[in-house]
Amino acid sequence: MTTKYIIAFDQGTTSTRTILFDASGHIVATAQRELTQHYPQSGWVEHDAIEIYKHQKATFEEVLNKVNISEKDVASIGITNQRETTVVWDKETGIPIYNAIVWLDSRTKNYCKELKEEGHEAYVRANTGLMIDSYFSATKLNWILNNVEGAREKAEVGKLLFGTIDAWLIYKFTNGDKHVTDVTNASRTMLYNCKELKWDKKLLNIFNIPETMLPDVQISSSHFGNITYNNIEIPIYGVAGDQQAALFGQGGTAPGIAKNTYGTGCFMLLHTGKEFIVSKNGLLTTIACSLPNQEVQYALEGSIFVGGASIQWLRDQLQIISTAQETEDICNSIPPLKDVYVVPAFAGLGAPYWDADAKGAMYGLTLDTGKNEIIKATVEALAYQTKDVLKAMQEDGKMKLKKLQVDGGASNNSYLMQFQADMLNVPVDKPEIIEVTALGAALLAGLKAGIWNETDLQTLRKTEEIYMPTMTSEMRHLKYLGWKKAIKRTLTK
Ligand code: ADP
Repeated sequence: MTTKYIIAFDQGTTSTRTILFDASGHIVATAQRELTQHYPQSGWVEHDAIEIYKHQKATFEEVLNKVNISEKDVASIGITNQRETTVVWDKETGIPIYNAIVWLDSRTKNYCKELKEEGHEAYVRANTGLMIDSYFSATKLNWILNNVEGAREKAEVGKLLFGTIDAWLIYKFTNGDKHVTDVTNASRTMLYNCKELKWDKKLLNIFNIPETMLPDVQISSSHFGNITYNNIEIPIYGVAGDQQAALFGQGGTAPGIAKNTYGTGCFMLLHTGKEFIVSKNGLLTTIACSLPNQEVQYALEGSIFVGGASIQWLRDQLQIISTAQETEDICNSIPPLKDVYVVPAFAGLGAPYWDADAKGAMYGLTLDTGKNEIIKATVEALAYQTKDVLKAMQEDGKMKLKKLQVDGGASNNSYLMQFQADMLNVPVDKPEIIEVTALGAALLAGLKAGIWNETDLQTLRKTEEIYMPTMTSEMRHLKYLGWKKAIKRTLTK
């Protein structure tokens, strides 16, 4: 019997990677290329879609060459990608008519403002679960059609195609045979009706987008086409946007399971099951990965603008630490009752407060407050902010969090993870493989290929450490009360 492998394409904002997993879910080989960032104007961010495809292909070949396996041993491929980034290409030539407009790009900010003034927000929220924002693909696609010479005319006669990065890669790797995307990516375009599970005619009308440009939409663990390599056909059996893939890779396949990625910013998703719930706290509703043969599943999504970035602020601006890692020992050296609070509202306050004008602040300073107390308070702020978002999610979803799965750079801080478990009063579970996004894509592809079944999902993701809550409820209550007071004083309205 030959050993089977699964390949994950992980196309991110700053790099493009290919990762080879074996049947026990271990990483066998990886290859990576940095992606060139183009900033043609302030607030604009673009990628060269051809470079993305070339890098994906090169890393794919590099991985196969690195290990002594034949392409015949690859059972299937899963794709995970930066979401919302928008590509438009010519149907006949397969050449993009403009650079990919990256999710971060805010050139359509004013157009979004107009759309809100025209009163479209309520419909968008109720049917896509999103808020009108330049992040999502719809206004970027509209911009390309309005600003690239001849684009609108060509689009109207069916000569142009649109796709997020997954659809673009599939189109290129299948030599133009397949123009498809998956539900998780479609749910970030602001054109997909997430309740009815189809492209929304009213939204296409508002954003002035011809329907012929749009890809067919499939569930995440299904057959998206084949990649031919050395005359061997390898099926693409999994596709998901990066955050949804991470939730899946973290075992988030049932309601009540949430994941938080502690990176520069923090990204949280709570699986809420088969009901489409619109948040009352300004969170987003998004489609989550479902298991094969399962109906569409949803998640609530929230982010913290300044997450690990506040630790960088301690290092680079205040210069009171030299590495992020040393914060752990410092936190452990301070007695728990010394309560200083840092509210890192450096970019305003996001969910659930939504105060763009708020600025960072510190509270509870006394003459004996030193730099270590400030460091500890900054680390703890990550946990308080996470609790705020998860609390809002649980209220919206009318469900109780069972446990929190964690990943990202700052999840290596054991003090923070223990404090997080204490604040949430649920176990915090850190996996062995921190590449949860790629693992999620591989799991989707391996499930469909029959390499793994649903029971395997729980064993393939191995826990490295579980942090159990140990704080008394009285102490938890007091500390969180202090945080809420600090937030109250920081809000500008
Ligand atoms: P990104 O993917 O956003 O670049 P990473 O997942 O690599 O982020 O995480 C890096 C962030 O995590 C940085 O902001 C850094 O300050 C923070 N970080 C890394 N290690 C620690 C640590 N041990 N304690 C606290 N913060 C940390």
